[in-house]
Amino acid sequence: MEYLKSKIRDVIDFPQKGIVFKDLTTLFKDARALHIVGWDLSQLYRDKGVTKVVGIESRGFIGGSILAFELGAGFVPLRKPGKLPADTVSASYDKEYGKDTIEIHKDAITENDIVVLHDDVLATGGTMAAAYNLVKSMNPKKIYINFVIELSALHGRDKFPEEAEVTSLITY
Ligand code: AMP
Repeated sequence: MEYLKSKIRDVIDFPQKGIVFKDLTTLFKDARALHIVGWDLSQLYRDKGVTKVVGIESRGFIGGSILAFELGAGFVPLRKPGKLPADTVSASYDKEYGKDTIEIHKDAITENDIVVLHDDVLATGGTMAAAYNLVKSMNPKKIYINFVIELSALHGRDKFPEEAEVTSLITY
C-alpha cells in the first residue's frame, strides 16, 4: 500500500481552489503499481460470481476494465450525457465540485447480473450514489461498490446501503 500511495500525486487547487486532487495517472503509468492495483482489486471479488463491472467515466474506465478482465466479467461504461449511441437511462447528482449527469445503456445490465460498480476516487459519494441508484433500477441480482481511493473525511460511504459492501484499496 505504501508503494501505491507513493505513486499517487496530490494536485493542489485542481480543478478549482480548495480541492486536493488525487491524481492517479502517476500510479497508472507505473507498471508495477498498475499490476498491483489490478491484482488487489480482483482479489476482492474472486469468489463473488461477478458478471459485469460498471466503470464511471472517465477515470473509472481504467481500473474497471482491468478488474473486469481479471474476473472474466464484462465491462459496462457509465458515461456523461450524449456519449452513448443507443437508448439510455440517466441520473443527475451533485459532486464535490459542481453538478453532473450520468447515463448507461438501457440493455447494459440484466436481472441475472452480479455487478461491481467501480470508480477511481470516493469523495462526497454523489457520483457513485447516482450510479448505484441507476444500476439498482435495472434490478441486477447484486451490486458491489468499489474504489481505488477513498477520502474518508468526506464520509461518502454513508450514502450507500450496507448491502453494497463498499471496498477501497487505499484510504486517506
Ligand atoms: P464524488 O461524487 O464527490 O464522490 O466525486 C467523485 C468523482 O469526482 C470521481 O469520479 C473522482 O474522479 C472525482 N473526484 C472528486 N474529488 C476528487 C479528488 N479530490 N481527487 C480526485 N478525484 C476526485
